[in-house]
Amino acid sequence: MWIKFKKWFLANILRRKYYRTGKCKACGKCCTQIYVKHYKHVLQDEKEFKKLQYLHSFYSNLKIIGKDDIGLIFECQNLDLDTHKCKIHKRRPAICRRYPQEELFSMGGALSDDCGYKMEPIVPFKDVLKNYEKKHQNKLEILNKFKK
Ligand code: SF4
Ligand code: SF4
Repeated sequence: MWIKFKKWFLANILRRKYYRTGKCKACGKCCTQIYVKHYKHVLQDEKEFKKLQYLHSFYSNLKIIGKDDIGLIFECQNLDLDTHKCKIHKRRPAICRRYPQEELFSMGGALSDDCGYKMEPIVPFKDVLKNYEKKHQNKLEILNKFKK
């Protein structure tokens, strides 16, 4: 019952497409490959990042470790590399507490393969397909006639 309500709330009130299942295994991987979204884009250059560091102390703890098609890649220096634990776990920022969120996918990111969380579509793909087919039945029939 709770799951049903949660899915309904996420889909209809918050307009989300995914819901989160599972739990964190504390492997620390998500703290070693971070993209930073600012407004509607992912950070691409160091200059912009430097400006952002003045806005929130969290950014001062990030170190640029590379860049790919999505944007700059950061590692958080609050991660203890020996234990894979966050050194400021109890006072970690809200963004870390909420991780992972659906936004991750819209940025082009993904969960690591062995992350304890999974993001499941609220409406299963087969239902999306079924609804699409229902809605576009006429067009599909016309297309099928042409195929014959
Ligand atoms: S990658 Fe997943 S399991 Fe590992 S620390 Fe991050 S949230 Fe937890
Ligand atoms: S503050 Fe802690 S939880 Fe957040 S990214 Fe850094 S190491 Fe990870």
